[in-house]
Amino acid sequence: MKIIVVGAGLQGLTTAYFLKQQGHSVLVIDRQNGPGLETSFANGGMLTPSQSAPWNNPEMLRNVFKLLYSNHAPLKIHPAAFFSSLPWMLNFIKNSSIKHFSLNQEKNYLLAQYSQQQLRTLREELNLKYDLAKRGTLKIFRSLNDMKQGVELCKSLHNSEINYNVVNQDEILKLEPALEHVINNIFGGIYFPDDESGDAYKFCQSIYSNLTPDVEFSFNTNVIQLVRKNDQITGIETSKGLVSSDIYVLAAGSYSKYLGKSVGLKIPIEPVKGYSATVSVLSSDDIPKLPVIDETRHIAITPFSNRFRIAGMAELCGYNTRISKKRINTLVGFLKELYPQYSKEVSRLDVIPWSGLRPYCSDGVPVLGDCEIGNLYLNTGHGHLGWTMSVGSSRLVTDQILDKQSDIDPMPYNINRF
Ligand SMILES: Cc1cc2nc3c(=O)[nH]c(=O)nc-3n(C[C@H](O)[C@H](O)[C@H](O)COP(=O)(O)OP(=O)(O)OC[C@H]3O[C@@H](n4cnc5c(N)ncnc54)[C@H](O)[C@@H]3O)c2cc1C
Repeated sequence: MKIIVVGAGLQGLTTAYFLKQQGHSVLVIDRQNGPGLETSFANGGMLTPSQSAPWNNPEMLRNVFKLLYSNHAPLKIHPAAFFSSLPWMLNFIKNSSIKHFSLNQEKNYLLAQYSQQQLRTLREELNLKYDLAKRGTLKIFRSLNDMKQGVELCKSLHNSEINYNVVNQDEILKLEPALEHVINNIFGGIYFPDDESGDAYKFCQSIYSNLTPDVEFSFNTNVIQLVRKNDQITGIETSKGLVSSDIYVLAAGSYSKYLGKSVGLKIPIEPVKGYSATVSVLSSDDIPKLPVIDETRHIAITPFSNRFRIAGMAELCGYNTRISKKRINTLVGFLKELYPQYSKEVSRLDVIPWSGLRPYCSDGVPVLGDCEIGNLYLNTGHGHLGWTMSVGSSRLVTDQILDKQSDIDPMPYNINRF
């Protein structure tokens, strides 16, 4: 079969891999000049099934309205985007009830856990190199109340076997001695030993080098629209002309919504902008080793050999990827706050700022598999968990294309749920 994949991010590349493995002829189209250059480029670097909770939870809902006008808030909603994304917003709110939230969290966790197994197999098969660390994740809390909520969240994943340890200050220091300067400001934490971390862009590059030359790539090619006739896609109109195949996979991140719209398909995703700042330090000897999620500040700090990546923030502001200096300074400020021993060094070194658009589905669960258009398959809407859920998602989508039985039930992720 001839298959076109739109998008060379985490989802598109891993889908291309599984399709190629089954002997199909695959063409990947992307408007950038290489793989992984949009949202998959400088994300938080965490592979965390432990963080499967969708953002739309009852607590977040209470804060949404409070945060609308705050400058340093982790979540910011620009009033114009609020109104332009109203249907999405209403469904987002509907899914914030405890009942919906728990169901959606469970769906994400199952997929994330499956994805982690698949990624481990892929890593060994292809000898992928991406600054992998298998040290787990530490989530820290500044108050008893925050901590109680964190523990409740872990317990609420009752059908899953999430592995976690509640840790006190002494145990935190054993796990990450570099937190010694701020330990008195930390109430406690939860340690998730099975999580992993790495550099998602290096992962994309590593997969890409395994795909070429068998898979064909058309970079610097903008997809303008899909062309539909009855219940089939007959081609893709691109900046380089019309291309066609038997099957099409839409893995264009936040832009999948627009490309879907070109053929009358409503994909309920909105771009949610996030930021990261990457800082190299001079010596990798004494750099912290453990990825830390600061639940109170809503940020994650991931060390990669001699670099820190601080990631966080969420802005609903349309497709604008402009980098706000204020927000980058806030992220760097959080790094200095947590690791004051690096303050001077970080102030002297270059910070690489970045922003990306998380394709966020209104129920917080990705959209995978077939749809009302017979030969079109979707692999998008992964929100803040796009790397964590990528390999498993692509495996499910490939199984569906090839009409194979999947290891986990793909139906909870299908667009028909809306
Ligand atoms: C700040 C931040 C931190 C994050 N941290 C983590 C984390 O720690 N762990 C985690 O699991 N996830 C994290 N994520 C989420 C994760 O990065 C995304 O979910 C994931 O990268 C989405 O991958 P994708 O392939 O769907 O989209 P993308 O990587 O955006 O790929 C889509 C591709 O489609 C192409 N494209 C789009 N439109 C067109 C068009 N019209 N024509 C041609 N090509 C087109 C783009 O060029 C792009 O290459 C984070 C995201 C952000 C923003």
